[in-house]
Amino acid sequence: MAYDVDLFVIGAGSGGTRAARIAAGYGAKVMVAEEFRIGGTCVIRGCVPKKLMVYASRFADAFAEARGFGWKVGETSFDWPRFVAAKEKEITRLSAIYRTNLEKAGVEIVAARAVIEDAHTVTLSTGRRISAGTILVATGGTPTLHPAVPGQEYAITSNEIFDLPVFPKRLLIVGAGYIAVEFASVFARLGSAVTLTFRGENVLRGFDEDLRDGLREGLTEAGVTLRAGCLPTKIEKRADGLAVTMSDGGTVEVDEVLVATGRAPHTQGLGLEKAGVVLGSKGEVLVDEQSRTNVPSIYAVGDVTDRVALTPVAIREGHLFADTVFGGKPGFADHSKIATAVFTTPELGTVGLTEEQARAQVSCVDIYAAAFRPMKATLSGRHEKTIMKIVVDAESDKVLGIHILGEGAGEMVQILGIVIKMGATKADFDATMAVHPTAAEELVTMRVRRIRHERIEAVPAGPGMAAPVG
Ligand code: FAD
Ligand code: NDP
Repeated sequence: MAYDVDLFVIGAGSGGTRAARIAAGYGAKVMVAEEFRIGGTCVIRGCVPKKLMVYASRFADAFAEARGFGWKVGETSFDWPRFVAAKEKEITRLSAIYRTNLEKAGVEIVAARAVIEDAHTVTLSTGRRISAGTILVATGGTPTLHPAVPGQEYAITSNEIFDLPVFPKRLLIVGAGYIAVEFASVFARLGSAVTLTFRGENVLRGFDEDLRDGLREGLTEAGVTLRAGCLPTKIEKRADGLAVTMSDGGTVEVDEVLVATGRAPHTQGLGLEKAGVVLGSKGEVLVDEQSRTNVPSIYAVGDVTDRVALTPVAIREGHLFADTVFGGKPGFADHSKIATAVFTTPELGTVGLTEEQARAQVSCVDIYAAAFRPMKATLSGRHEKTIMKIVVDAESDKVLGIHILGEGAGEMVQILGIVIKMGATKADFDATMAVHPTAAEELVTMRVRRIRHERIEAVPAGPGMAAPVG
């Protein structure tokens, strides 16, 4: 049977654009629908504008530090509308590059919302119906707002924060994951009075405990007020902003409330159920390791599958999908040992197992760690601390995880991701000559084992149960 196109891609974000371009390169006739802006979350309202804001925020530290190095710094001030305009220009430029690359590859782009009718048909919001040999769902995710409280309509999400017409001098952020801590760090440096409020006892659940503590100190140092174990119960609009009642009984008066309590797969109203595609409990599209759903002609990649919600992962999944279905080169996405960074200041970079995870998986774990004041902080007078930690399987000497809090952590951990993927041992690190003076040299000079955890087979290991040796 002849279809209008070989491949119809829903969503021109990180995963969809890569899949469309590579499939077209293999000779497939490809159409992609985008209901918002080409480039998706990462380019338009995620990684890229966020990182530009991180750069903007770090000038605050640079101005303060410069004095310690002999500079006389005049009065400084931050112009939010000017930054927003510059940022918009850059993401418009990037979005245009994405469009050009798709067009050059021969992909037809339609500016419309697409809904699935059946295993081989999509309907566009323009009324057009398209038949396709294969449909790829790459619709990403949308912010979820927790907890549901009266007045929640006054809160914003990361979708709105990048283009606020007025800079929020007082900002309440709900959550303690990637988005919450990154924006807390950014807005505190840009001049907001930031309160970070979250349900747990510490920020960044699931990350290495030492780094979590270090980041909490770093955020406090930057002037962020942290309210652990506390959530909003009501948001009220006042003439001069928002009054937020908190579960611990207090009230916080702010200009904006940013809710960053996770993202849900963007599958609502997409017609997947009608086509017989099985979804998971969070609405995620369930796929196999080649990103195929239970309906043979429908695939899904990226955040909508709720595997690992990171841009490089969506891109890899999209590329492997195109290789597999249109390139005759079957590929399997490997979601193990993915390096990731949290772009707070101090920055956090991590790859592999945390100390806690390693202790649950390996019978004997060695931990090497260093906490030090970086050289730059000596003259600047800042109370900054860099933390580095290497988690090693004591039996095989294999490095299982590396965790860094400090300047350049994201850059370091990208390279360390290769090292860990290659199966490097601690002895390999020790045999490597240091680059001096750098912070990263600590990674190859840590000789003293801080702690050895032996797993007790009969009783599950837990805090206080492991016997520290060495
Ligand atoms: P998306 O990029 O979200 O693309 C989905 C596209 O589909 C969207 O453009 C949407 O408009 C479109 N769409 C949805 N439904 C339809 C429909 N029915 N019809 C037509 N079009 C539709 N990741 C990192 O690796 N590093 C970071 O620093 C980072 N920072 C982030 C910061 C923020 C604030 C956020 C929110 C996310 C960040 N991420 C980061 C995560 C990253 O943005 C996502 O993992 C990535 O964009 C996922 O790509 P995707 O292709 O799955 O979806
Ligand atoms: P995260 O999953 O990172 O964090 C969600 C936060 O919301 C956690 O603190 C969580 O608390 C809290 N939360 C969840 N449910 C509730 C609830 N019902 N009530 C109160 N609090 C709740 O999500 P984000 O929204 O920060 O980011 C989404 C994803 O986007 C990230 O997971 C990441 O994959 C990606 N991203 C990546 C970035 C990067 O690479 N630098 C930057 C930004 C986003 P608890 O910990 O207690 O569960």
